[in-house]
Amino acid sequence: MSWIDLRSDTVTQPTAAMREAMAAAVVGDDVYGDDPTVNALQQRVAQLAGKEAALIAASGTQTNLLALLSHCQRGEEYLVGQEYHTYRYEAGGAAVLGGIVPQPFEIEADGTLDLAAVAKRIKPNDPHFPITRLLSLENTHQGRVIPQAYMQQARALVDAHGLKLHLDGARIFNAVVASQTSLAELAAPFDSVSICFSKGLGTPIGSVLVGSKSFIARAHRWRKMVGGGMRQAGIIAAAMDYALDHHVERLTDDHQHAQQLQAGLSKLAGIQVDPAQTNMVYVHFESATAAEQVHQQLKQQGILVANSPKMRLVTHLGITTEDVQRVLAAFQQALA
Ligand SMILES: *Cc1c(COP(=O)(O)O)cnc(C)c1O
Repeated sequence: MSWIDLRSDTVTQPTAAMREAMAAAVVGDDVYGDDPTVNALQQRVAQLAGKEAALIAASGTQTNLLALLSHCQRGEEYLVGQEYHTYRYEAGGAAVLGGIVPQPFEIEADGTLDLAAVAKRIKPNDPHFPITRLLSLENTHQGRVIPQAYMQQARALVDAHGLKLHLDGARIFNAVVASQTSLAELAAPFDSVSICFSKGLGTPIGSVLVGSKSFIARAHRWRKMVGGGMRQAGIIAAAMDYALDHHVERLTDDHQHAQQLQAGLSKLAGIQVDPAQTNMVYVHFESATAAEQVHQQLKQQGILVANSPKMRLVTHLGITTEDVQRVLAAFQQALA
């Protein structure tokens, strides 16, 4: 029996063709700036994002950390959502390593922050307060595409207060495909964007940070300092380049599979299902016990899901239309 793993799009395996591209990569020492495959990939992503420069890093946590460290000095503050990755899921790196103060906000139902509430927390220039420096947003957030009109409003707010604007675009390509917009357009309001390749794009490792030349130069120094300088990193860049060629358009398959899951699950009693915009379906159970039972029964049928009353199902390049049918049948049986 083959496993169907819906826990995350990070479980994707590099395909045979991606491994071939990695094996064939021309490489050099990237700490010397000598890796042609890294240099070309960075140039390609910068151009796609409409920014001056780009920097490859090991993970999205690292590119987000480099962004926070490069925008904010010690004693400065970033504004962020309670459930955004740059606040909650990065082990407090900005505070620990940068002395940067987070100011978190509750997230609205659509995944945005209430900009009026954000404006109220921007600190006046007073020695009592940290210096507010940056607003950090996320797209997609929990599978939701954040409307670009909102991002423009966020840009207007930071401009009015002389702040910078960072986007955690771990799954920005899902937003690109779902909204049929270019990466450059989605990135335009932001001073910096972090992009993951090891999620839906299916590489084994790798993220990219984009921004201005001077910003990326600062991030480059920070990357060295946190031990993120890699040597023959062209092996990774080749996988990322392959993903840009072959794994972007196909994200629509993942989105269709998520919609098929949502449509099928919403017919079942005992659960509530949120609308699926990209590659995530959230299933709400009446109790933790009910969720635990379904989780166990699915596992017996070779289907892996998070064990939570707010259960996240994530589609990705390892999930086929037949898998979706198998998952729906298993849910139906488990909830009967
Ligand atoms: C996965 C993810 C990241 C980065 O995670 P890494 O595992 O460090 O690559 C950042 N932001 C969001 C929203 C994510 O989902």
